[in-house]
Amino acid sequence: MTDARTDDDQTQCLQQLALGHPILWANPALPRARTVAPGAGPGRSDMLAAEARLVRFAPLLSDLFPELQPSAGRIESPLLPVAELGAALGLPEVFGALWVKADHGLPVAGSIKARGGIHEVLEFAERLAFDHGLLRPDDDYRVLASPAARACFGRYEVAVGSTGNLGLSIGVMASALGFRATVHMSADAKAWKKERLRARGVSVVEHAGDYEQAVAAGRAQAAQDPTIHFIDDERSLSLFLGYSAAAPNLARQLAAHGIRVDAQHPLFVYLPCGVGGAPGGITFGLKQLYGPHVHCFFAEPTQSPCFLLRMLDRRGAAPSVYDIGLSNQTEADGLAVPRASDLAADTIGDDLSGVYTVGDDTLFRHLYLARRHAGLQIEPSAAAGFSGPAMLGQTAAGRAYLERHGLLPVMNAATHIAWTTGGLFVPDAEYRNFLERGAGLDARPGGQASGRPAA
Ligand SMILES: *Cc1c(COP(=O)(O)O)cnc(C)c1O
Repeated sequence: MTDARTDDDQTQCLQQLALGHPILWANPALPRARTVAPGAGPGRSDMLAAEARLVRFAPLLSDLFPELQPSAGRIESPLLPVAELGAALGLPEVFGALWVKADHGLPVAGSIKARGGIHEVLEFAERLAFDHGLLRPDDDYRVLASPAARACFGRYEVAVGSTGNLGLSIGVMASALGFRATVHMSADAKAWKKERLRARGVSVVEHAGDYEQAVAAGRAQAAQDPTIHFIDDERSLSLFLGYSAAAPNLARQLAAHGIRVDAQHPLFVYLPCGVGGAPGGITFGLKQLYGPHVHCFFAEPTQSPCFLLRMLDRRGAAPSVYDIGLSNQTEADGLAVPRASDLAADTIGDDLSGVYTVGDDTLFRHLYLARRHAGLQIEPSAAAGFSGPAMLGQTAAGRAYLERHGLLPVMNAATHIAWTTGGLFVPDAEYRNFLERGAGLDARPGGQASGRPAA
């Protein structure tokens, strides 16, 4: 019985997806009270090791990037209360409080990619430095700015395939350390992102195809040359663990704000998803810390729901959004990915609460509301998290999730975090266009009504 109903749900879900309708899918495999399974794959110590690496490099980064001096070399973002924005989005009071994890302002990279991309560059540099006798375990990592270290790094290249933001984070960090850096960009990558990289001395290779093809081209080139370290967005564990290091930091921020996370105080986190590495790594980390009390939902564009597609077919060959007739065309360029990462799906698929999809118009409207009601300057991809509370509270699938996990009675004590994943470096003219488009949509009769609770 249960299986038959689940199959029906999945079929219906696929139909809605293929039509490009916004939907929420809740994971039927998520157990009611799962604690993190030990077992194979990465664990808590790997997450903590990634965080420790970022701490070791902090003094060096503070020297290399003046903008990191206030944070003593840590690349972190604040957790912001946004009650007024919550009201504007239609979050009813009984649903708890809305917060923003403000990765849109992450220094150096301007997006969530700072967490994974920079971590992997640092891990590569650290390994090379140990191998070449340039660094000993107790050294001050600032020795890596020495001419000898830079000369060593200069013999290696760091390469990556990207829709833009990953290239920005890796290109900037790699070139700051003295590596040669190459970024393989997809056709949909924004022109300003390419220009910014070239200005930093990074070589940009433009590909006619999509993100997946750019990654494949970079991977193939690196396979020919042992001096190239290819950062593989679809397969890299180092990248994934770098993202997970956000979790212990968020836990400290929640504690500092006096926010509890337990059975009586559930935490909901809404994470914009491309290939699944960033939201997957963060989900992995948060699950290590909070187990069943954190509920992680991924947010994808209606034309690029690759992770949801993957979740609907866990056993089959990894499907692509083109297979169900979608275009992978979206203004949310950071999320324009046709096929999900196997690493992310395999590692956190069982722990994911659900995935929902968002149309571009909604992204722009929420981008505008985020500016108007919270003063946040975000890019379209970063707006995807703001649909989360409404998708959870106002869809049948969302209500069913809350009921199945016994959450309805404690929702007034819930905390919702929309993870804003990028925006700092969007050029002003481009951002003004985003805002205008969002303001126009919000002014439409349907725009406001759909975003506010019925009176
Ligand atoms: C890359 C990116 C994401 C999602 O990260 P994935 O690892 O691709 O899932 C979300 N938002 C922005 C702005 C991004 O650049």
